Amino acid sequence: MTTRKILWFLLFTVAALTVSVSCSGDDDNGGMTIPDIDKTLNRQGTGTSARDLLSAEKYSRIILEIVYVQGYEPNATSVNNLKSFISERMHKPGAIDVEMTQIAPPGNTEYSVDDVFELEKEVRTKYNNDDQIAVFAFFADKGSTENEDNKVVLGAAYLNTSFVIYESTIREISARSDTPSRTVMESTVIQHEFGHLLGLVNLGTDLTSDHQDEANGHHCDVQDCLMYYQAETGGNISDVITGGTIPELDPQCIADLQANGGK
Ligand SMILES: [Zn+2]
Ligand SMILES: [Zn+2]
Repeated sequence: MTTRKILWFLLFTVAALTVSVSCSGDDDNGGMTIPDIDKTLNRQGTGTSARDLLSAEKYSRIILEIVYVQGYEPNATSVNNLKSFISERMHKPGAIDVEMTQIAPPGNTEYSVDDVFELEKEVRTKYNNDDQIAVFAFFADKGSTENEDNKVVLGAAYLNTSFVIYESTIREISARSDTPSRTVMESTVIQHEFGHLLGLVNLGTDLTSDHQDEANGHHCDVQDCLMYYQAETGGNISDVITGGTIPELDPQCIADLQANGGK
């Protein structure tokens, strides 16, 4: 009997969206003016809020708003791992808060990042406010429109404070016997996308050394770094996540973050 070996290729993407924002003015409510939430601060290009996320100069607190489709909730350990990652790299002495919200399946059969952004406009409730910066994460019940036969997209950072995790795809792949556990895969993808929000690599956080894998965009050329991007055929997911552990940032990526206000 032939063992059929299926190789799954890991594709992390960072997508730049051109977003047009319409803002209504303050409404007149019986003589009382209620200011609109300024959503424009959270609708900028990926990496442009790196310093605001890394340092406490403008924002000493962070809130992470996780919206997931019913049945696709992230593992509690993955959420805790992200909180640890944030406290390890970012100066947020005030608070690191997480709010989780479940929604019914929106009915999509797949999601482009534009689809996710359209959904974000409907379901996101947290925006930057006073000393608190807000990050939005969507956990999708269907895969990416960019999936191909031999490579799949597991996550994408698509705005300065927004990313999507293709949770259904992570569950399909991690159910295979030769792949890392769901929590390890989930945590890896979540932290990798968060790394893009922090401006890695050379995406709003300047390089302090030559470690950008330019052939693969905004990724690191160190193979066991969290920000590595395995693009070539021949690598399977085990090459990205070795030993069943979540990859860490290598010293060069950490040095970049520290030079831009991070830890
Ligand atoms: Zn990436
Ligand atoms: Zn690196």
